[in-house]
Amino acid sequence: MAIYNSCPICNNSFVKEKIYTDKGHFYEWLTCEKEHLKFSQVIVDSNKLDTFSITLSLNPLIRVAWLLSTKEVFIAKGDLNYIMNHNSNVNIPYIEPDFSNYEKLLNKIKTYSLFL
Ligand SMILES: [Zn+2]
Repeated sequence: MAIYNSCPICNNSFVKEKIYTDKGHFYEWLTCEKEHLKFSQVIVDSNKLDTFSITLSLNPLIRVAWLLSTKEVFIAKGDLNYIMNHNSNVNIPYIEPDFSNYEKLLNKIKTYSLFL
Protein backbone atom coordinates (compact mmCIF):
# COMPACT_ATOMS: atom_id res chain seq x y z
CA MET A 1 0.00 0.00 0.00
CA ALA A 2 1.42 3.35 -1.00
CA ILE A 3 1.99 6.41 1.15
CA TYR A 4 -0.09 9.31 -0.15
CA ASN A 5 1.66 12.57 -0.97
CA SER A 6 -1.62 14.45 -1.01
CA CYS A 7 -5.13 13.78 0.20
CA PRO A 8 -6.59 10.85 -1.79
CA ILE A 9 -10.09 12.26 -1.35
CA CYS A 10 -9.67 15.89 -2.41
CA ASN A 11 -6.01 16.11 -3.54
CA ASN A 12 -5.27 18.84 -0.98
CA SER A 13 -1.73 18.97 0.44
CA PHE A 14 -1.18 17.62 3.96
CA VAL A 15 -0.43 19.38 7.20
CA LYS A 16 2.48 17.50 8.77
CA GLU A 17 3.11 16.85 12.43
CA LYS A 18 6.09 14.85 13.66
CA ILE A 19 5.99 13.09 17.03
CA TYR A 20 9.13 11.49 18.48
CA THR A 21 8.88 8.49 20.78
CA ASP A 22 11.27 7.81 23.65
CA LYS A 23 12.89 4.96 21.70
CA GLY A 24 14.19 7.14 18.89
CA HIS A 25 11.39 6.38 16.48
CA PHE A 26 9.01 8.96 15.13
CA TYR A 27 5.49 9.19 13.85
CA GLU A 28 4.35 11.57 11.17
CA TRP A 29 0.72 12.58 11.06
CA LEU A 30 -0.26 13.83 7.63
CA THR A 31 -3.68 15.39 7.73
CA CYS A 32 -5.93 17.03 5.20
CA GLU A 33 -7.52 19.92 7.02
CA LYS A 34 -9.49 21.17 4.09
CA GLU A 35 -12.51 19.07 4.82
CA HIS A 36 -12.70 19.15 8.61
CA LEU A 37 -9.89 16.65 9.25
CA LYS A 38 -11.56 14.14 7.02
CA PHE A 39 -8.43 12.19 6.09
CA SER A 40 -5.16 11.49 7.87
CA GLN A 41 -2.38 8.95 7.57
CA VAL A 42 0.32 8.01 10.07
CA ILE A 43 3.80 7.00 8.91
CA VAL A 44 6.44 5.48 11.17
CA ASP A 45 10.14 6.35 10.66
CA SER A 46 9.52 8.04 7.27
CA ASN A 47 8.68 4.86 5.39
CA LYS A 48 6.22 2.58 7.16
CA LEU A 49 2.55 3.27 6.65
CA ASP A 50 0.76 2.62 9.93
CA THR A 51 -2.74 4.03 9.96
CA PHE A 52 -5.35 5.70 7.81
CA SER A 53 -8.29 7.45 9.35
CA ILE A 54 -11.25 9.45 8.15
CA THR A 55 -13.81 11.52 10.00
CA LEU A 56 -17.39 10.61 9.19
CA SER A 57 -19.05 13.13 11.47
CA LEU A 58 -17.89 16.03 13.64
CA ASN A 59 -20.83 16.23 16.01
CA PRO A 60 -20.96 13.63 17.39
CA LEU A 61 -17.37 12.83 16.46
CA ILE A 62 -17.23 9.56 14.54
CA ARG A 63 -13.95 8.35 13.06
CA VAL A 64 -12.94 5.26 11.14
CA ALA A 65 -9.37 3.97 11.38
CA TRP A 66 -7.46 1.31 9.48
CA LEU A 67 -4.59 -0.30 11.38
CA LEU A 68 -2.64 -1.54 8.39
CA SER A 69 -0.15 -3.83 10.14
CA THR A 70 -2.87 -5.93 11.73
CA LYS A 71 -5.51 -5.34 9.03
CA GLU A 72 -8.04 -4.05 11.51
CA VAL A 73 -10.74 -1.48 10.99
CA PHE A 74 -12.53 0.21 13.82
CA ILE A 75 -15.12 2.88 14.27
CA ALA A 76 -14.76 5.25 17.20
CA LYS A 77 -17.47 7.52 18.55
CA GLY A 78 -17.41 10.25 21.16
CA ASP A 79 -15.03 13.09 21.89
CA LEU A 80 -11.37 12.90 20.95
CA ASN A 81 -10.15 12.13 24.45
CA TYR A 82 -12.59 9.25 24.70
CA ILE A 83 -11.44 7.91 21.35
CA MET A 84 -7.73 8.19 22.20
CA ASN A 85 -8.35 6.07 25.27
CA HIS A 86 -9.93 3.42 23.07
CA ASN A 87 -13.04 3.23 25.21
CA SER A 88 -15.43 3.45 22.34
CA ASN A 89 -13.70 1.59 19.55
CA VAL A 90 -15.70 -1.05 17.74
CA ASN A 91 -14.02 -3.37 15.29
CA ILE A 92 -15.75 -4.03 12.00
CA PRO A 93 -14.74 -6.57 9.32
CA TYR A 94 -11.76 -5.48 7.23
CA ILE A 95 -12.60 -3.27 4.25
CA GLU A 96 -9.88 -2.38 1.72
CA PRO A 97 -9.09 1.33 2.18
CA ASP A 98 -9.76 2.21 -1.45
CA PHE A 99 -10.06 6.00 -1.54
CA SER A 100 -10.25 6.10 -5.34
CA ASN A 101 -14.00 5.61 -4.98
CA TYR A 102 -14.78 7.40 -1.76
CA GLU A 103 -18.56 7.12 -2.03
CA LYS A 104 -18.34 3.37 -2.45
CA LEU A 105 -16.03 3.11 0.54
CA LEU A 106 -18.41 5.18 2.67
CA ASN A 107 -21.32 2.97 1.70
CA LYS A 108 -19.43 -0.14 2.80
CA ILE A 109 -18.59 1.46 6.15
CA LYS A 110 -22.18 2.59 6.65
CA THR A 111 -23.44 -0.94 6.05
CA TYR A 112 -21.36 -2.17 8.98
CA SER A 113 -21.98 0.81 11.21
CA LEU A 114 -25.74 0.18 11.06
CA PHE A 115 -25.16 -2.70 13.44
CA LEU A 116 -23.33 -0.63 16.05
ZN1 LIG B 1 -8.83 16.09 1.63
